[in-house]
Amino acid sequence: MLNIQFYNSLTQKKELFIPIDDEHIKLYVCGPTIYDHIHIGNARPIVVFDVLYRFLKTQYPKVTYVRNVTDVDDKIINRSRELGITAEQLVKNYLKLFHHAISKLNTLAPTVEPKATEHMPQMIEMVEKLIQKGHAYVTNNHVLFSVSSSELYGQLSHRNLDDMRAGARVEVADYKQHPLDFVLWKPAGDVKPSWESPWGAGRPGWHLECSAMASYYLGERIDIHGGGRDLLFPHHENERIQSCCTFGENEFSNYWLHNGYVTMSGEKMSKSVGNTYKLYELLEQYSPEIIRFLLLSTHYTKPLEWSDQSVAHATENVKKFYEAFSRYNFIPQNRAISEMDFPNEINEKIQQIRHALADDLNTPLALSVLHQLLQGVHKSHSDKERYEWLVGLAYAGDFLGLFSVSPAQWSDKGEVSIDVESFLNQRKQARLDKDYAKADEIRDYLLSQNIAIEDTAEGTTWKKI
Ligand SMILES: [Zn+2]
Repeated sequence: MLNIQFYNSLTQKKELFIPIDDEHIKLYVCGPTIYDHIHIGNARPIVVFDVLYRFLKTQYPKVTYVRNVTDVDDKIINRSRELGITAEQLVKNYLKLFHHAISKLNTLAPTVEPKATEHMPQMIEMVEKLIQKGHAYVTNNHVLFSVSSSELYGQLSHRNLDDMRAGARVEVADYKQHPLDFVLWKPAGDVKPSWESPWGAGRPGWHLECSAMASYYLGERIDIHGGGRDLLFPHHENERIQSCCTFGENEFSNYWLHNGYVTMSGEKMSKSVGNTYKLYELLEQYSPEIIRFLLLSTHYTKPLEWSDQSVAHATENVKKFYEAFSRYNFIPQNRAISEMDFPNEINEKIQQIRHALADDLNTPLALSVLHQLLQGVHKSHSDKERYEWLVGLAYAGDFLGLFSVSPAQWSDKGEVSIDVESFLNQRKQARLDKDYAKADEIRDYLLSQNIAIEDTAEGTTWKKI
């Protein structure tokens, strides 16, 4: 059994990983809020925690990985109004696009992907418990969490109440007992969607969904909670306090893992700054293998710089592997022998990958071992020997979710964009034929590919959304 260590944001130390139950690991990761395409900064936690999930599965008999979908939020409501569609339609479209894009990056589906809107009873129940226990109060049609009701508040992000007040853009409202008290439930007014509750028709606060869904699927205490560094405060601080106070535990998750930002010219990539690359746009330009490789080339706790140079560097690296697969006519997905059959020298390299990942997911080190395996391929003296190194390389790449594309399909370029005009002509014909079902089907397909069309007096126009 390997010694597994993770950097725990709670203790700010690298710690030995001791599961609650050796037979069943419980992992929760905060997923996206679905109101637009994800950018590469949002894709980083998806890939980082995919590697963690893959690794834990090699070490323990059962791993339950829960990654939520935030499908109720003011951003969703505002964006759906802009586009003139319902919040439900907006989520449906963008969730499809999200799944499409991340599956290109060869990420495994989580065990459960719960949606906030499908867990209202669990959230309402949690709010009721928090009120009963004196951790929450009803005021001005809102239910607020009282941050001064527990000593635990601030421990995860290592701030005291005064620091937090200064650092957070908190909404100051005179009905709050403390400026940092946060919303558990708020009135919806005339805005849809809303849900009935003991406090009137309303919507939950964002933090609440993760606490409610984590406990519903994983129990009151979990092994690992993951997410981007930007979620540490206030989101994770608030999640933690809600869960601890509901269940009377002094901890919600034993290990808190946070990935660093993706930066451009050293500045954090963020939608509000506008310095983002959308994942689907990058997938049109580069092979998903290159994007995944780049995302793993920096240790997950550190900032990752996205630049022409870093993309070129990743491209050069991935090309070397695929050139070898092509030259030796080797398909990395079809390997027949298990690692037990590997000669010692190859086995050692595979063990090095395991140790690298056990040491707080050291993916840069693991990638350097892949290069050593590639050297073994090139130095081989016989076809048999070369084949063993190639299989070892493909086997090792699997730990990182790499080499999912066959050499025949490999190209350093992204996917070919679709020929919109030909679809529009087909749709025009369908409408002439009065086959409106087919016309709608084509429109929906284009929408799923980020193309919105509009019928005007002059004909049909289209734009990328
Ligand atoms: Zn969350």
